Amino acid sequence: MKQIIESDCRLKGIIRDISEVAGILWERGWAERNAGNISVNISEYLSDSNIRPDNYPYRDLQDNYISLGEQWFLITITGGRMRDLARRPEENILIIKVEDSGRGYFVISEANNKKTIMPTSELPTHLKIHKMIKERGSNQKVVVHTHASELIALTQVREYCSENKLNNILWGMHPETIVFVPKGIGFVNFKTPGTGSIAEATLIALADHDIAIWEKHGVFSIGTDIIETFDAIDILAKSARIFFMCKNAGLEPEGLSDSQLEELRKIDF
Ligand code: 13P
Ligand code: ZN
Repeated sequence: MKQIIESDCRLKGIIRDISEVAGILWERGWAERNAGNISVNISEYLSDSNIRPDNYPYRDLQDNYISLGEQWFLITITGGRMRDLARRPEENILIIKVEDSGRGYFVISEANNKKTIMPTSELPTHLKIHKMIKERGSNQKVVVHTHASELIALTQVREYCSENKLNNILWGMHPETIVFVPKGIGFVNFKTPGTGSIAEATLIALADHDIAIWEKHGVFSIGTDIIETFDAIDILAKSARIFFMCKNAGLEPEGLSDSQLEELRKIDF
């Protein structure tokens, strides 16, 4: 792993940014134990001439990912800690290459010789999102899942568990929220993590948004690079904090008015 990463300064840069964001997720209290996972499509930097995938373990996939055939991903290991990823990225991340049939993948990791390490248990959601991105022809490459407490707290309140309600609250708390997250957040009803069904529901939520919240669990955010992908979560979490600060003080936050939001929508950054 280390050798592969060191071989390309662009890959080195991606790993540096992943480490930085992993450290922030931990400091925010969004990454208890092994919470959260990250994947990045790195197909433009790797080919079979860099690595011989068939020298590495092969795993079957439950669904067919034909459009991801021959695609390479950096992806966090299952059970890994964000605070360890920040300090020792090469031990907490691995590379997978989806085989050309889209029915399985090769696992390329630092620890292959010591023990079997596997990609995140949320692999179905990560891969289905990357497949959607590829089929759309979008230049987005990054998927971040984290347990953003402030946003999760909103989904503990039944009344807030709808896209409309969540976005009205979040956009209303700070003028820059609608500017930087104009599509708002998608909502996914509670489902068991790690399953194909939560992955499918996430795709529906991401059809019109770049970030989705899993009820009582955490967010999935997609973007062109990891910093931008993190920023969207950060901005929404800030809005949620302002909302709860007012509530904690026993006050009802007013929120921005529809006409103020309409004006803000016209700002082009
Ligand atoms: P992994 O350790 O398998 O990535 O799981 C963390 C998580 O947040 C599951 O939703
Ligand atoms: Zn999770």
